[in-house]
Amino acid sequence: MSTTKYIFVTGGVSSSLGKGIIAASLAKLLQARGYRVTIQKLDPYINVDPGTLNPYEHGECYVTDDGAETDLDLGHYERFLNVPTSQANNVTTGRIYQSVIEKERRGEFLGKTVQVVPHITNEIKERIQILGNSGDYDIVITEIGGTVGDIESLPYIESVRQLKWELGEQNSLVVHLTLIPYLSAAGELKTKPTQHSVKTLMESGIQADILVCRTEHELSDDLKKKLALFCNVGKDAVIQSIDASTIYDVPNMMLDEGLDRVTLKKLGLSDEGTPKLVRWNEFLTRHKNPKGTVHVGLIGKYVELQDSYKSILEAFIHAGAENEVKVKVRSIHSEHIDENNIAETLEGLDGILVAPGFGERGIEGKIDAVRHAREHNLPFFGICLGMQMAVIEYSRNVLGLKDANSVEMNPDTAHPVIDLMEEQKHITNMGGTMRLGAWKCDLVKDTIVSEIYGEETILERHRHRYEYNNEYKEQLESAGMKTTGINPDTGLVEIVEIPTHPWFVGVQYHPEYKSTVANPHPLFVGFVKAAYEHSKKQDNLAHI
Ligand code: GLN
Repeated sequence: MSTTKYIFVTGGVSSSLGKGIIAASLAKLLQARGYRVTIQKLDPYINVDPGTLNPYEHGECYVTDDGAETDLDLGHYERFLNVPTSQANNVTTGRIYQSVIEKERRGEFLGKTVQVVPHITNEIKERIQILGNSGDYDIVITEIGGTVGDIESLPYIESVRQLKWELGEQNSLVVHLTLIPYLSAAGELKTKPTQHSVKTLMESGIQADILVCRTEHELSDDLKKKLALFCNVGKDAVIQSIDASTIYDVPNMMLDEGLDRVTLKKLGLSDEGTPKLVRWNEFLTRHKNPKGTVHVGLIGKYVELQDSYKSILEAFIHAGAENEVKVKVRSIHSEHIDENNIAETLEGLDGILVAPGFGERGIEGKIDAVRHAREHNLPFFGICLGMQMAVIEYSRNVLGLKDANSVEMNPDTAHPVIDLMEEQKHITNMGGTMRLGAWKCDLVKDTIVSEIYGEETILERHRHRYEYNNEYKEQLESAGMKTTGINPDTGLVEIVEIPTHPWFVGVQYHPEYKSTVANPHPLFVGFVKAAYEHSKKQDNLAHI
């Protein structure tokens, strides 16, 4: 019998209350008290994973070391805890059903009728306990996606009910995240929606143990008492979660509210002492007291939805704190860029990041942006598609290969400088078939990247189908675009630089997935530093 304790986080009243941030903040506090903690997300949709989802649907698709395409909340978990997650940390209804149906086809149910209860719920319970049974964690926090009362979350809620019963007293608890709306006409905070969502949970046989109440205004003591009485929880189990100016304040806010202590008490664990948040608070101090500002452009085509570039935006926050500067990100829609307005569009920026992406829409704008950065010594950082655009731009405008392109955009191009790998050519399924997860990369000495990483070999996470075409390597290199990182096993080019430019780096992988509060990503730190230097140079020029 494992001694792992389980915490379930459910949501009520409304979606988008920030269950992921609350789960990550609680995990942070428990980790800072010395517990080994991990967080898992259960998503009630039918996609097997979010890899096939458009970013407009669910925001960014986050990728783990083991190549799982996952919900963006896993990014928060890693950024807060600095512990890698894996496929086991994100499970969808699609994956649960796929696995149960495969078992049925193999005849594993021995002639039984396969049903939601017990077969789907058993599969869910198994998936929840995989992490606990590994022996690697003292506490597993499982976040249930969606809002209680949703038809599609019912099997998850039933699984939590069963597990709570099976695990017994003090081995599990339910944190219910809810909203206390403020009615300005009445000038009052309202508890009724919360009472109803706690009741809905009870109809499924689950009594919430702790309420975390999202609110725009302070909850009075009386209101907390009322919530406790009508929702059947202790008064110390009503936790206020007021709007924060940064998500990184939430762990301290939860600490002030005693979320970690009431959790530990209910799990029968000692609540003595306080969490050690030294490194975390150092980061916060630097984040909140910048000594300067840099302006960077984020050039992408999903810019209307901030969540599409979540990990990139967070990596800028980490790198800004490390450099003690505020990074102001200007989102620029690549579809609105052309060679006539590019100078005006990028005016006042100290660097640009050309974002990852798929498909043809907006790519010419990205290429115009790369060209401007290259020709004007503006720090340039290309990620995945951004790196591919840099290679295309160089091929077209420096090598003179006018129709150079990626075969993703033009399968008939005469110059496929970005091409499909042989292994990818026969693949027809879209889901889970890209080059995914952590791959090794050897760094070339005396380059920006070798200096920045301070290592010879790195491991970075990938998510793409197309690659730098090695047939053009010699030409590109002799024309000045150097290969500075190579996959030692496949010979694939993973990094390009232009040494005659102050800071021009394109990477085929996604460094943003590995940036955490404790370990800001060196490439983001280096890029922000270069952008800061650029801004100081501009200031000097302005004074002449
Ligand atoms: N669409 C490109 C590819 O599949 C780049 C993908 C990305 O930016 N993540 O190779």
